[in-house]
Amino acid sequence: MDDIYNEDGYLIVKEDHLCEHWEPDDGALVPMRECWCCKWAEFVIDNRSLTSESLGLCCYHGNMSRSRALKLNCGE
Ligand code: SF4
Repeated sequence: MDDIYNEDGYLIVKEDHLCEHWEPDDGALVPMRECWCCKWAEFVIDNRSLTSESLGLCCYHGNMSRSRALKLNCGE
């Protein structure tokens, strides 16, 4: 699957996606190695540019669209 980014340059991910930058979310008791349990993921239900709650944003700076990589405001 080709990488897809939102209008701010953040990578759009599925719950079961995984990349080499995965780090466990502090809130997960037994974190599975997938975006759903990654500290860099933000899964949102109501987002203007997303249509499914199983899609989220990856806030890891290194995964941003190169053209928007200087904009750092995800989760702040
Ligand atoms: S949320 Fe981002 S950093 Fe974490 S596993 Fe998914 S793509 Fe990688």
